[in-house]
Amino acid sequence: MSDMPLEEFRKNGHQFVDWIADYLKDIEKYPPLSQVNPGDILKRIPQSPPQKGEDIEKVLADVDQLLMDGITHWNHPGFMAYFNSTSSGPGILAEILTAGLGINGMLWKTSPAFTEHERAMMNWFRQMVGLPENYWGIIYDTASTSSMHAIASAREQLNLGFREKGMAGRSDVPRLRLYCSEHAHSSIEKGALTLGIGLEGIKKIPVNDKFEMISQKLEEAITQDLKSGWKPFCVVATVGTTSTTSVDPVEEIASICEKNNLWLHIDAAYAGVTAMIPEMKCITKGWERADSIVINPHKWMFTPMDLSVYFTRKPEILKQAFSLVPEYLKTNKDDEVENLMDYGIQLGRRFRSLKLWFIIRYFGVEGLAARIKLHIELAKEFAKWIDDEKDFERLAPVPFSTICFRCTPGNKTEEELNKLNEKLLDDINTSGKIFLSHTKLNGKFVIRLTIGSIRHERRHIMEAWELIKESATKLK
Ligand code: PLP
Repeated sequence: MSDMPLEEFRKNGHQFVDWIADYLKDIEKYPPLSQVNPGDILKRIPQSPPQKGEDIEKVLADVDQLLMDGITHWNHPGFMAYFNSTSSGPGILAEILTAGLGINGMLWKTSPAFTEHERAMMNWFRQMVGLPENYWGIIYDTASTSSMHAIASAREQLNLGFREKGMAGRSDVPRLRLYCSEHAHSSIEKGALTLGIGLEGIKKIPVNDKFEMISQKLEEAITQDLKSGWKPFCVVATVGTTSTTSVDPVEEIASICEKNNLWLHIDAAYAGVTAMIPEMKCITKGWERADSIVINPHKWMFTPMDLSVYFTRKPEILKQAFSLVPEYLKTNKDDEVENLMDYGIQLGRRFRSLKLWFIIRYFGVEGLAARIKLHIELAKEFAKWIDDEKDFERLAPVPFSTICFRCTPGNKTEEELNKLNEKLLDDINTSGKIFLSHTKLNGKFVIRLTIGSIRHERRHIMEAWELIKESATKLK
């Protein structure tokens, strides 16, 4: 009744690494976006589990036969949708080690190296993005989780006894208000929903023509809310919004937060890594005044899903909100060490910091910064191609590596243009060569192209542009 014999494991392990290496070598042979229909994959998988064990080789063969055409290939250089999340070689190898070690870093004692390594990596990463020493970091799975913990800390900072008494049915608790721009990511609303703030407790502040939060409108909203009995408690500024990658005016927002004693959380899930590039340091202006910041290495730092870094100047508030230690989790070192389970809702934790260690050491900070810088340069080039093409229009500035555009052949109504661009995107995505996503800006259907894959080279961007133009010509 034992595990797979080690010799068998060794043999299969080599085969699996070969499989991954071949997959990455041949990745451009696949269509980036899976073209299967809903239910296609489910009906191929037996409805009941096997009673007797099977060979791993057979299971791996089924990955090829049953799953591969249902895979959307995020590692494909034609994947230019959403924000890329690509797996680099060192990141994949670190994932293998994580599974092999199989440790759970819930307490310092359950693997001292886990807790102390995460502390060291958070210190490295903090320096890489130029944050001061008073920022303490922790790794969560996703930015959604990180931002939820930020909002929970903001709520805890109010000291209204939520931990003991909850929020419901209390006449002594005012309604809480969180502010973010109209372009903030939906994860902010989901975090607020989870924490009982309710959708009405979220005020979306209008943006200017560059899709950046208008700080004066924020100030007006807070003043108005205070007059009508709301309790403002948190502002989320986004550095790199999801639709257009716009940057909210952090310094102005920080001043408003300081004046009103509000928690300032910065969502830099996508763009935060650009702070590693000396020329991009301008994006971090005012960051040192934020209470918390989230940056996702799994978006633009070549880290396999998942790894989100959360920094805060006030870890003690996070601990105050979440620490709860039952007898069976007490240890005789608790007074001397940091137990990461105290800083969030999860108890068990994967050894994610290994991925940062391998990736940062393999590429070096300079190597990572150079790759990200290349993406920004390629995006500027692509933006120029759009600007120079008569029948195309760019709909937002390009501060990072995402371009928002649409095709605008003459004499068409806005409704016709929306339909045409929707069809154009569909044609592009069913070509089997590239995968782009979309958004809507001021009622206009907009195509988004993001450059950020470790496998993106100039030729991929040129090929994408040719394909877009070709598909557009067919539609006119
Ligand atoms: N914040 C921003 C600005 C995003 O663009 C995204 C996802 O694209 C998120 C947060 C959520 O990220 P995650 O999938 O890590 O929760």
